[in-house]
Amino acid sequence: MAKAFLEITLQHLDDAAKRVDLDPNCYAIMKQPERELTVAIPVRMDDKHVEVFTGYRVQHSSSRGPCKGGVRYHPDVTLDEVKALAMLMTWKCAVVNIPYGGAKGAIKCDPTKMSRSELVRLTRRYTVMIMPIIGRQKDIPAPDVGTNEDTMGWMMDTVSMFQGQTVLDMVTGKPVSLGGSLGRRDATGRGVMICTLEILKKFKKDLSTTSVAVQGFGNVGSVAADLLAEKGCKVVAVSDVTGGYYNPKGLDIKEMIEHANKHPFKLLEGYKRKDVTSISNAELLALDVDVLLPCAMERQIVDKNSGDVRAKFVVEGANGPIARNAEKILQERGITIVPDILANSGGVIVSYFEWVQDIQAFFWSLDQINYHLKRLMVGAFNDVWELAQKEKVDMRMAAYMIAIKRVANAINQRRIFP
Ligand code: NAD
Repeated sequence: MAKAFLEITLQHLDDAAKRVDLDPNCYAIMKQPERELTVAIPVRMDDKHVEVFTGYRVQHSSSRGPCKGGVRYHPDVTLDEVKALAMLMTWKCAVVNIPYGGAKGAIKCDPTKMSRSELVRLTRRYTVMIMPIIGRQKDIPAPDVGTNEDTMGWMMDTVSMFQGQTVLDMVTGKPVSLGGSLGRRDATGRGVMICTLEILKKFKKDLSTTSVAVQGFGNVGSVAADLLAEKGCKVVAVSDVTGGYYNPKGLDIKEMIEHANKHPFKLLEGYKRKDVTSISNAELLALDVDVLLPCAMERQIVDKNSGDVRAKFVVEGANGPIARNAEKILQERGITIVPDILANSGGVIVSYFEWVQDIQAFFWSLDQINYHLKRLMVGAFNDVWELAQKEKVDMRMAAYMIAIKRVANAINQRRIFP
């Protein structure tokens, strides 16, 4: 599965490279990561035995600036998956034009089965092992699936202890009390909401008659669902690993968030209301809604279930949720896809704001952050939309064309060292 994900990511690069007639030298540089680090992380578990976890940090490109990307804790993670995610980060930062390259990190572990003190020890040891290659101007980690602002606080503290001074600007997504940014926690979901509103605007679709289904009720999905409900859309279904919840009249998203917040792993498990029916994740993806937001994991819409999708718009909150052949089938069926590298770029945009604020030691108001987030996202959305119209390509191709050209320009301007 991870291999397939890397293949799709490379295939997207190939397709766009052909379309923009990319210089073969640039293509040769772009198709592989600049640096891959694999580490063996020994952790003393609570029962005193030592478990050795595998961790990764992959830096795909530093052509446009320091590498940037999240750290994922997941039992199924592989190096190929991390390579694909690192490459996606390069294109994401380029398409929204923030001065970063792309990276990704991961530890193969199941954080839901570990105690907090085990997670702290795992994070600290991992941080030390990747410390030679991370830093404010080298590579700035952030949260991803299975990690959160606490994890980033522990990473920041670990580097600070080694340097003998508090180093705020080496990681983003930190708690606000430790140099984190207002608005960071909600940023990716807010960005998904902004892209959803923009695509609905292009198709002159009224929000009050728009129904939405959201797969994944974590950091991205729950915020996107909440903000779209606030804008007047009817969020009829959401799901997480415990299953799906459906009410054709619309769900009470705020109440569901409150419920998940009380669960030790922020899950919807046990949520029951008389007008809410349980559905499977497969059923959620096949609902007759206007907008489907896949906000869980990669490759959720594949060959097998692509014919079932009935939404008119799919806005990719997750990275790589649609397999390549499935995408073709959706497009043939007239479904518009807002691609991940654009739709879920809100998190990295506000991470960029956090880094800028840490460097300046001057913090912005929430209004300023949300204003600039919207400005960058709507700008990038319209660039992609207009190029897609002009070149008669889909939005993913247009987004890749913009991103790849920007990275190629940076490579050419810097020239090849030595
Ligand atoms: P998260 O761990 O907070 O939430 C993931 C959610 O998906 C959880 O509710 C989980 O229960 C659910 N889930 C997992 N597998 C599922 C399945 N098979 N079916 C239904 N639900 C399932 O993670 P997140 O931070 O919200 O990230 C979600 C996706 O968005 C990932 O692909 C991630 O790479 C991407 N993303 C996240 C950010 C960010 O800032 N957090 C930024 C960009 C992209």
